[in-house]
Amino acid sequence: MRTRVAIIGAGPAGLLLSQLLHDRGIDAVLLEARDRAYCEGRQRAGMLEQATVDVLREAGAANRLDREGLVHHGIHLRFAGRDRHIDFPSRTGGRSVTVYGQTEIVKDLIAKRVAEGARMYFDAPVTAIEGIDGDAPRVRFLRDGVEEVLECDLVAGCDGFHGVSRGAIPADVLKIHERVHPFAWLGILADVAPSTDDLIYAYNERGFALHSMRSRAVSRLYLQVDPDADLADWPDERIWAELRERLALPGWTLDEGPIRERSITPMRSFVAEPMSFGRLFLAGDAAHIVPPTGAKGLNLAMADVRVLARACEEFFLAGSRAGLDGYSDACLRRVWRAEQFSYWMTTLLHARGDADAFERRCQEAQLAYLADSDAAMATLAENYVGYTWAD
Ligand SMILES: Cc1cc2nc3c(=O)[nH]c(=O)nc-3n(C[C@H](O)[C@H](O)[C@H](O)COP(=O)(O)OP(=O)(O)OC[C@H]3O[C@@H](n4cnc5c(N)ncnc54)[C@H](O)[C@@H]3O)c2cc1C
Repeated sequence: MRTRVAIIGAGPAGLLLSQLLHDRGIDAVLLEARDRAYCEGRQRAGMLEQATVDVLREAGAANRLDREGLVHHGIHLRFAGRDRHIDFPSRTGGRSVTVYGQTEIVKDLIAKRVAEGARMYFDAPVTAIEGIDGDAPRVRFLRDGVEEVLECDLVAGCDGFHGVSRGAIPADVLKIHERVHPFAWLGILADVAPSTDDLIYAYNERGFALHSMRSRAVSRLYLQVDPDADLADWPDERIWAELRERLALPGWTLDEGPIRERSITPMRSFVAEPMSFGRLFLAGDAAHIVPPTGAKGLNLAMADVRVLARACEEFFLAGSRAGLDGYSDACLRRVWRAEQFSYWMTTLLHARGDADAFERRCQEAQLAYLADSDAAMATLAENYVGYTWAD
């Protein structure tokens, strides 16, 4: 089999790239290790920056998003019995964010790609990537247990944190930066209308809590837990009791409903650089991970792919390698901005068991500053909606 771009992974990054290349008339084949239902069912992110909404519109995959997405104009910061609403549009020249589940984005993109007859193979795990330092890379994958080879001009490694692409870059070229945070998030999806208009980020000595939502009828809530926490120790009543405690505010009540799904996610900051080598280009979680506190993971994946699609267009349609050569640096600038913001939000809002009284008092002072200072709120708002550079 032969194509111009071999895309590995049918997460948001791989699917969007497949669509953007198709729209530019560039042939691509997408290989995905899991089946379609698995990809469409994975509960993950849900907060979209304006630039993510824009690129999905550009890709013609935003009809349902435009109908069902919930536009949010800010967040609530809750701590020490206070609730401060941080408004975004007034501090960012009118920008907002949109709540729409990653699962829905994946469903929309798969449906569109299938309808357009894309060469997209599920249950097709990639086992090896060869020849990326030459002009004719090859991707080895399995189909019905039989090895096949995909010949291509470029390889897009969109295969997430546990994929094979990153490992194809020589170890002496790749630099890894990593922090594993000393807590995890227990996330639930509950069939109950959200008890809030905008997301609530709550700091509490018992730990962080987040009240988010997926739709007008489905709430998504998170609790900071120990990294080795076991779901078996968290029956429904304990989860709701802890959420009530950490989100408490006089006069406000948390509505509860049946818990449909629950999971525990470790918190990690991770960057692999450079994000390209020869003819291999990493995008999304294959190259970087952020703790979800800043709601950046999905948005970074989409931003990488936007840059990569343009670089492919320059390469195939205008014969220039400039975009491909600049890909890694262009992405890493945004990635490190988001890494720093996510790290800052995480350390600000989580309770650390090993923090001494001095560190706790500094954390409380920083929270109070954020709730009182327009400059501090503007900084949070600018980064939350997605920082953009003047050039
Ligand atoms: C449990 C969880 C919760 C999260 N919550 C949030 C959140 O609240 N907010 C937020 O912003 N971000 C969140 N994230 C991060 C966000 O979901 C990711 O940043 C986003 O999924 C990145 O998209 P991606 O396409 O790069 O990778 P992925 O979505 O991971 O997709 C990679 C795809 O590659 C496939 N693949 C892997 N190996 C191979 C192979 N060898 N061959 C072929 N295919 C392969 C995988 O099966 C997968 O389908 C969460 C992540 C996780 C894991």
